[in-house]
Amino acid sequence: MAEKEGETHSINSGQVMEKIAALTKSRGFIFPGSDIYGGLAGFWDYGPLGTELKNNIKKEWWNKMVHKRDDVVGIDAAIIMNPEVWKASGHVDSFTDPLVECKLCHRRVRADYEEERRAHSEEHKKKKEEASWTEPKTFNLLTEVFLGVTEPKQKTFLRGEITQGVFVNFKNIVSSSRVKVPFGIAQIGKAFRNEITPGNLTFRSREFEQMELEYFIAPDEKEAKKTFDYWKKERMDWYLSLGMNKSNLRFRIHEDNERAHYARFAEDIEYKSPFGWKEFEGIHHRGDWDLGRHKISYKDQDTNKEFTPWVIETSGCVDRAALFFLIDAYSEEKDRVVLKLHPRLAPYKVAVFPLLRNKPDIVKVARQVHDSLKESFVVAWDDRGNIGKRYYSQDEIGTPFCVTVDFETLEDDAVTVRDRDTMGQERIKIKELEKYLIEKLA
Ligand code: ATP
Repeated sequence: MAEKEGETHSINSGQVMEKIAALTKSRGFIFPGSDIYGGLAGFWDYGPLGTELKNNIKKEWWNKMVHKRDDVVGIDAAIIMNPEVWKASGHVDSFTDPLVECKLCHRRVRADYEEERRAHSEEHKKKKEEASWTEPKTFNLLTEVFLGVTEPKQKTFLRGEITQGVFVNFKNIVSSSRVKVPFGIAQIGKAFRNEITPGNLTFRSREFEQMELEYFIAPDEKEAKKTFDYWKKERMDWYLSLGMNKSNLRFRIHEDNERAHYARFAEDIEYKSPFGWKEFEGIHHRGDWDLGRHKISYKDQDTNKEFTPWVIETSGCVDRAALFFLIDAYSEEKDRVVLKLHPRLAPYKVAVFPLLRNKPDIVKVARQVHDSLKESFVVAWDDRGNIGKRYYSQDEIGTPFCVTVDFETLEDDAVTVRDRDTMGQERIKIKELEKYLIEKLA
């Protein structure tokens, strides 16, 4: 049972996921991929509101990780690379998950997912059957692709992590940009994994969008520890700055036996989801694994020393962030559902309503207000039903402010501004409206 702090209701964990799934589909955040053909496990499409949410997350991340810093540059590498990249990086040999199969029904699950295995065995027990499992087999997570039109086609892979695009461009970036170790390379882009058990909406998908930073330092354990701790805090602070509930976030150090093949040390930021504490973002000390394997070194121009830099990585996911921000923001209060999304993440910042759709004078002014606000914000328009219904409809998608143009507006050039969280209403002059909203939405 997951109970979020500060809420006035109690929703059980299964219900939360069902409600989020229903809401995100009905309001156009997330749709099952290829929906009209019955979907395809692990693939999702984003609707109009989901696309805005994801774009806002990416914009916030890029702003914080690249634009506001002097020591980080951004890139956008290709999804498909020369297969030699994946051999050198160790992914062809070691990017694997262990899988077991139920001998009764042939359902496959990850061998290390104790909870899932237990739940599955319970299902059989209910039918008075005893589940037993095959020995674990390892499966490679890379998705194969074949290029060219004539046989033999060239086999390569969709990238299993976006990281390698950074390493293979390291030399190009050092020679073309004015960067010096220590410095970072940031990237946002799609990654693909043949996950054995995709699920929990977009949490574990087969196609997802990572947002990652590779921060290069001189090889030194003390420096690595300092840099690791610095980025851990930066990343946690970022989630908190966008309104995530502190009690739903924690750090967890990886055990020796769960670290990826490239990691010397790894710690996750975890989120307390309705389906348990789950990995949200990984902070990894990759040492010189990748640059070493790609045989890339770096020459310090000041000291003339040549060395293979070490890497501290922060590896998050846009889709997972969108899902956890939605879950964290979901709340029910009496008769309304509210997505208390941070204003910078909310798909619409403001909604504008004419009190009555059949009063041309009111509609005309409302349109003018709508059009002028559109210069500064993403704005919704709604003239259906009554005002109460319109408020609830905007609450459900997280719109922080609703602006109503009514009969009085025609007399006093002011509108009613209603706050999503407090439901309080204020009368604001139209000419002061933009400034008022800019301050409130900051
Ligand atoms: P897990 O052990 O849960 O499979 P992982 O440790 O393999 O995850 P990483 O390789 O560290 O994950 O990936 C970095 C980040 O990419 C994760 O923290 C997560 O945010 C995201 N990620 C990884 N796999 C998926 C996936 N299948 N769907 C959505 N996001 C993912």
